[in-house]
Amino acid sequence: MATADSLLKPDHAASRKHFIFTEEHDQLRESIRSFVVKELAPHAEQWEEETFADWVFPRMGELGFLGLSYPEEYGGQGGDYYANLVLAEEMVHSNSGGLAMGVAVHTDMATPPVFLFGTEEQKQEYLVPAIRGEKISCLGITEPDAGSDVSGIKTRAVRDSRSGTGGDEWVINGSKTYITNGLRADFIVLVTKTDPDAGYDGFTLFLLDMDAPGVIREKKLEKLGMHASDTALLAFQDVRVPAEAVLGQEGKGFYHIMWELQGERLIGAAGCVAGAQKAFDMTLKYAGERSAFGRPIGKFQAIRHKFAEMATKIEAGRQMVYTTAWRFQNGEYPVREISMAKLYTARMACEVVDECLQIHGGAGYMKEYGIERAWRDVRLNRIGAGTDEVMLDVIGRSYGL
Ligand SMILES: Cc1cc2nc3c(=O)[nH]c(=O)nc-3n(C[C@H](O)[C@H](O)[C@H](O)COP(=O)(O)OP(=O)(O)OC[C@H]3O[C@@H](n4cnc5c(N)ncnc54)[C@H](O)[C@@H]3O)c2cc1C
Repeated sequence: MATADSLLKPDHAASRKHFIFTEEHDQLRESIRSFVVKELAPHAEQWEEETFADWVFPRMGELGFLGLSYPEEYGGQGGDYYANLVLAEEMVHSNSGGLAMGVAVHTDMATPPVFLFGTEEQKQEYLVPAIRGEKISCLGITEPDAGSDVSGIKTRAVRDSRSGTGGDEWVINGSKTYITNGLRADFIVLVTKTDPDAGYDGFTLFLLDMDAPGVIREKKLEKLGMHASDTALLAFQDVRVPAEAVLGQEGKGFYHIMWELQGERLIGAAGCVAGAQKAFDMTLKYAGERSAFGRPIGKFQAIRHKFAEMATKIEAGRQMVYTTAWRFQNGEYPVREISMAKLYTARMACEVVDECLQIHGGAGYMKEYGIERAWRDVRLNRIGAGTDEVMLDVIGRSYGL
């Protein structure tokens, strides 16, 4: 018979970290969490009204959080992709989806193409100050007439070969919409069409200063959630840039931006899991404190089962993100799995936060509990960086359909 010592006991509160993370990641997590809770979260209410303050960037740059996975020679921390996951996960403790998004656009959407495709001069001029938080970046893909269908964009860059320019200049005309950080950004990674007859080979990325003549920040757009972020409608009117403003290979911008979207989607998925977990934790506490019919509401089977469902879905999402991140980190380009993780976690986070609001009852509908804001913020994840329907299409097509 087994002795008491040799009995295998279930571990219901497993706290062991996932195998992708090391002690260093744990330390990083702790220092980001402490910064986010002490220096960012206290401003969440105010920033909901007036968008978050620009000082966040230089402060995060000073702490080394804006270049976690970039090489030290550019001012980065030389870490791996998992360090970016840690940042995305910990930013949810700012209690401000809009702030987390504004920072993620800078660290994981606009600057990665500069690092991967940029020339040394471009890296020195844009990436290095971006890592320090001295230059804020944004990414311009979406247009009033083209969102999901990136190939339908109309912003045109035309080579100007008139005398005097030596064919070394480009003139850009068009517009971009829903651009996060668009009002505050110092530079933009801009997707343009350079050859309308060349199909997917007719797109080119440009790196543009946002104060260049002809760049117009037309207006700040009002939105359902993510109020702490600024979302802009931008216009480009005869913006003249030198040939050195081309980012990556001329004509290969479509492929470059499709690569960028993979990292963006995976980071978004990590944020969804962390956001769902945060709402779950807040709600678990609430369900233990709030009583009805003589007992804490968490003791009702109906509520207990909601928690069980939510925890299971969150865990499934987390495993998808970590396993896919492991493949990404190890040099694979797993578009199908990234799309699956993006699709699943976005839906999952919306379902979880909605259920958390329900468990809060009337309090969930009130601003002071924070669930109402999370509910509005989280909805964006099923739209931004590729809608659910686009993810389904990518996944379906990957099976040859
Ligand atoms: C708050 C916010 C911040 C954003 N930040 C940025 C940013 O910083 N930079 C940037 O470039 N963009 C940004 N976006 C834009 C975002 O990526 C797009 O909104 C998104 O890709 C969807 O494009 P769309 O809005 O034009 O929708 P549409 O493409 O018009 O789609 C409308 C509907 O049709 C569906 N649909 C479209 N095509 C298909 C299809 N083939 N099959 C089935 N259904 C389809 C869509 O799924 C959707 O339900 C942001 C958006 C928001 C709301």
